[in-house]
Amino acid sequence: MEPLETKDPKVAELIRKEQDRIEHGVELIPSENFVSKAVLQALGSVFTNKYSEGYPRKRYYGGQEWVDEVEELAIERAQKLFGAEHVNVQPYSGSPANQAVFFALLNLGDKFMGLDLSCGGHLTHGSPVNFSGKNYKCIPYFVDKETERIDLDVVKKAAMQEKPKMILSSLTAYPRRLDFKGFQEICEEVGAYHFADISHIAGLIAGGAHESPFPFTDVVTTTTHKTLRGPRGAMIMCKVEDRLHDKYHNDSQKNLSQLVDSAVFPGLQGGPHDNATAAKAVAFGEALQPEFKEYARQIVRNAKALADEVMAQGIKLVTDGTDNHLILMDLRPKGLTGKGKELQHAMDEAGITLNKNTVPFDPASPFNPSGLRCGTPAVTTRGMKESEMKVIGKAIAKVVDNYQNDSVLVKIREEIRELSKQFPIYPGMGILK
Ligand SMILES: *Cc1c(COP(=O)(O)O)cnc(C)c1O
Repeated sequence: MEPLETKDPKVAELIRKEQDRIEHGVELIPSENFVSKAVLQALGSVFTNKYSEGYPRKRYYGGQEWVDEVEELAIERAQKLFGAEHVNVQPYSGSPANQAVFFALLNLGDKFMGLDLSCGGHLTHGSPVNFSGKNYKCIPYFVDKETERIDLDVVKKAAMQEKPKMILSSLTAYPRRLDFKGFQEICEEVGAYHFADISHIAGLIAGGAHESPFPFTDVVTTTTHKTLRGPRGAMIMCKVEDRLHDKYHNDSQKNLSQLVDSAVFPGLQGGPHDNATAAKAVAFGEALQPEFKEYARQIVRNAKALADEVMAQGIKLVTDGTDNHLILMDLRPKGLTGKGKELQHAMDEAGITLNKNTVPFDPASPFNPSGLRCGTPAVTTRGMKESEMKVIGKAIAKVVDNYQNDSVLVKIREEIRELSKQFPIYPGMGILK
């Protein structure tokens, strides 16, 4: 039972370096966050040892008395947090959760609609390189060329024509609100399932800073590690009854919740990761506290402040702003088409972590796109507010204008380091001690 530091100094050193990196830079990748010490402890607990294929009270192995309780606790807390009828907390991550929903609702080759990757959708929403695009027929919808926003009239027109079996409402790089009610009306009109993937905005929804997909959806998936601020993992929430049973599942006796559960296990996964389940329960407990509402609202206020500053510095944003946790910078008006990769690298040099991203109708490739995506969940968790967003916004613009000037980048890195030091993430916590 030797501690990591002496048992494996090599790995211990890498963890220490990563800790140093996050403490002394600003983390603006909108899908990242910093979990609490309590979540880390649950993740590192003895639950990592257990096998528990099946569901609470219906397992295939012995020794489940405490695993059952912790999984039931996670489910109850998630139900309370989102007002979901049925919850499955076993998916290993967001992509497997989405795969399970495809398994549950569609047959191979069935038609569905999803927001195109280039317009802010996720790979699992029908990209040709992903299972979703390879095994099912995706009819993508796009944002409007002028407004760069989703136009539900266009979605509706395509849905009436194509008659998809499922419509996905979701975002991964779209800086505006999703109108779940509007999507639901389309789904009802064409007899399609409504599947919302709220991976990016789950924390905002739980904290009341974004409209909820309930009761306007049949199935909802979310990762637990983004704005929701839990461990890496995911969950699926759904209605119990299958609204479209008569239309699509004439032979099946299963209701919707049974379709989803059996798609996860035994359809797709083996044993759930019980340590992650315990950590999910902890994170949902945290999200039920009143402070979480303030955190969610501050994420949005910070994103607005960052957007305003970056625009004031002369950088164009997709949709000219944001109303969620993320902004998408369009570098084309700066003459930096296809320079996203270089800019991302320059930001790294300056201690600012974000990611290159395509902008809608980007003429450049996804490897060298023309956009940069950043978001405020992680900086909000460490306590930064609007005034820090102004400092960071100015720094971002300075990097964009000096991305090939190493001495400027080094200077910005020093400023970012000084700023970061005032907002320790894991104060006094030697993770390795
Ligand atoms: C992050 C994300 C996923 C995938 O989650 P992983 O845990 O990375 O597999 C799926 N959908 C959306 C909308 C996401 O943002």
